[in-house]
Amino acid sequence: MHEKKFPSEVAELQLPDITASEKLGAQLAPCLAPGLVIYLQGDLGAGKTTLVRALLYSLGHQGPVKSPTYALVEVYVVSRLYLYHFDFYRFMSPEEFLDAGLGEYFRKDSICLVEWPDKAAGYVPPADLVLTLRLDDDGRGRVCVPEARSEEGQSCLTKLRSAWDAGVS
Ligand code: ADP
Ligand code: MG
Repeated sequence: MHEKKFPSEVAELQLPDITASEKLGAQLAPCLAPGLVIYLQGDLGAGKTTLVRALLYSLGHQGPVKSPTYALVEVYVVSRLYLYHFDFYRFMSPEEFLDAGLGEYFRKDSICLVEWPDKAAGYVPPADLVLTLRLDDDGRGRVCVPEARSEEGQSCLTKLRSAWDAGVS
């Protein structure tokens, strides 16, 4: 049954400038629930880390939000949430996910934000929500295509969609 319901199609979200991306990140923050796995897809420079940074600041994080390209994972405990921000760009093979012992971060009480999940395909747990980012047509802004892949992801996306439509900032 559920297989038929997901993935769900949702219209593209236009992000013409970095302020728009920061707003989307902030809108996503209150839609999060423990246990969510969110994939952030898109090429280098598509704006994945920008979105995560805005989300973390909105939750009250202070200080830098570094790209986890080298560390593989950055840990944030903020607003009573455990957030783990991953970036598997540098993986030479998906098995590195196991070698690095990263599976234990994916818990019922944690929220995992994953850049370059394809590099850990077959090992990284499945996403509840996928946000795919790309350059827009004039190459200056970005476009985000959200897609829910579970009930939990759909619940998060429904909330995000109404915040987006209401222009919450
Ligand atoms: P990624 O993590 O996908 O490699 P980043 O989040 O590091 O990408 O962003 C790369 C660059 O894109 C940064 O200079 C950032 O300021 C810029 N950027 C992010 N979102 C937007 C946007 N909506 N419009 C214009 N520039 C953006
Ligand atoms: Mg990045």
